[in-house]
Amino acid sequence: MRYNKIRKMDIANGPGIRVSIFMQGCAFHCKNCFNPETWSFKAGKEFNDEIIDKILKLCDNEFIEGLSILGGEPMHPNNIEGTTRLSKRFKEKFPNKTIWVWSGFLFDEYIKDKEVAKYIDVIVDGQFVDELKNPNLQWKGSANQRVIDVKESLKTDQVVLWEEK
Ligand code: SF4
Repeated sequence: MRYNKIRKMDIANGPGIRVSIFMQGCAFHCKNCFNPETWSFKAGKEFNDEIIDKILKLCDNEFIEGLSILGGEPMHPNNIEGTTRLSKRFKEKFPNKTIWVWSGFLFDEYIKDKEVAKYIDVIVDGQFVDELKNPNLQWKGSANQRVIDVKESLKTDQVVLWEEK
C-alpha cells in the first residue's frame, strides 16, 4: 500500500496538535472531493514499517495529542491492513493519546467488526456529499457524515456520537 503525505504538526484534523497521515488510494470518487490527488492507488510513496517508526517518533512529544489518519481511504481493502498495523503500534506505545480516522465507509456497516476498530478513538464516517456541504461543521465536510465515539459505540453496540470532553 501507499501513502500521500505526513504532516508533522496538524491543527486542522482533530483536537489539539496532531501528527497526520494521508493514505493513498480511494475508490469512492466523491464529487468535489477535497483531496483528489489521493485517489490513485499507484501514486504517493510506499507505506512500510519504517514509515510507522517515523510516525511514532514524530508522536513521541508531549505536545502531540494524537494521530489522525485520513486519505484517500484508510479503510479500503488495499489499505486497511497498514492502517491496522499503524494503529496497533501507536496504541501500544501511546495508550493515552488518541487516534482519529476519516473514512468513506460506514462505521456500523463495515468498520466496527474489523480489528482496527479496537484501536481507534474517533471515526468520522461517510462519503463526502457535495449537496450537503457545510463549512461550519466541525471535523467533517458534509452533514451526512458522523463524528463517532468508537470506544463508547463498541461498548454499547450502537452508534454513539463523539462529544468534546
Ligand atoms: S471518500 Fe474522501 S478521499 Fe475518497 S473521494 Fe470521498 S472525499 Fe475524497
